[in-house]
Amino acid sequence: MSVCLQIEATRGPARAGRLITPHGEVETPVFMPVGTLGSVKGISQDVLEELGVEILLSNTYHLFLRPGVETVRKMGGLHQFMSWDRAILTDSGGFQVFSLNELRKVSEEGVAFRSHLDGSARFLSPEKAMEVQIGLGADIIMAFDECTEYPADAARARASMELTLRWAERCKRYFEEHKAEVPWKSSRQPSAVSRQGKQVLRSAGQPRAAVPTGKNQALFGIVQGGMDPELRRESALRTIEIGFPGYAIGGLSVGEPRELTRDVVLSTLEHLPSDRPRYLMGVGTPEEIAFYAQSGVDMMDCVLPTRAARHGLLFTSEGKISIKQARYAKDESALDPACDCHVCRRYSRAYLRHLYAANELLAQVLNTVHNLHFYLVTMRTVRAGIRAGLAPASGAS
Ligand SMILES: [Zn+2]
Repeated sequence: MSVCLQIEATRGPARAGRLITPHGEVETPVFMPVGTLGSVKGISQDVLEELGVEILLSNTYHLFLRPGVETVRKMGGLHQFMSWDRAILTDSGGFQVFSLNELRKVSEEGVAFRSHLDGSARFLSPEKAMEVQIGLGADIIMAFDECTEYPADAARARASMELTLRWAERCKRYFEEHKAEVPWKSSRQPSAVSRQGKQVLRSAGQPRAAVPTGKNQALFGIVQGGMDPELRRESALRTIEIGFPGYAIGGLSVGEPRELTRDVVLSTLEHLPSDRPRYLMGVGTPEEIAFYAQSGVDMMDCVLPTRAARHGLLFTSEGKISIKQARYAKDESALDPACDCHVCRRYSRAYLRHLYAANELLAQVLNTVHNLHFYLVTMRTVRAGIRAGLAPASGAS
């Protein structure tokens, strides 16, 4: 048993339910905040817990380069290292290798690239990406795929899809042979988690109390195929044939028009099994995540709420606000009067504008808290809508 989806209500193609992971349950459809380097920029883990975050995403590529998988493994895995008891998903590193490295060299074996930090030569293959992700110890890990560039001609899109399928088989083989090496299964170290009390329990030589024995990481497959619906269909069917406990739609948000993203997602969803989690990678605005959740996607992630927050762009019930604008300099109203996050309850637009203009660190913190809250509430509302209009799901688990 690794990860499974319990569907509790459906409305049209949308589903609401629970993703059961080794580190707790996650209400779906879910938005996963991005903690690139084992940290959601500007936000401490206790604030993430207060916001109700049940799963976050971290990037294999960045952790592989810094601090390196051996450090994280020795610290008992990413949960223990970053003091996060709830679920984590790591991506495979594929997307970052393709987006951050112009000098990458792709071969059948894997991808050679140079670190964006110091220029050192690095290599990621399906096996290496599995080894690193097992060492990091996220609950859900992703197959190493080639993210097809946009635009790509038909021959290139097919060749890339075929490579991703061969890599998916290698990922699964390596994962099945090595999944017992996940650090939270063998950890006997005192935990950094909640040092006030739990440490006593763990330093007595107990494994993590939160992780029942017999639980494994889950490896998800990724559907590629560029922007061609027929290739997407083939990629979905052949990835399902290899067999994974969950499926992701990858290779989107690579510069294509938004309508094309939507068409590719909707056509791909039709081919994914209804009893497995469906994860749409790297999408999107609040409107888009609501739309995709209502279309049958269970999991999404995006850097948009956190990255936009650091640039003073805030999502509100009245639309997007650029808090740097002078018009807010004497605005006593709450950032979003309809929002009940602790930023909107306490501070004025004028104060937030001042913090941003003065380049205060607190500006980034408060802006990020609000944007994450807004995204999480967006998904909460979608879930409530699915449950309210619901017919009980039949036999899905
Ligand atoms: Zn707010």
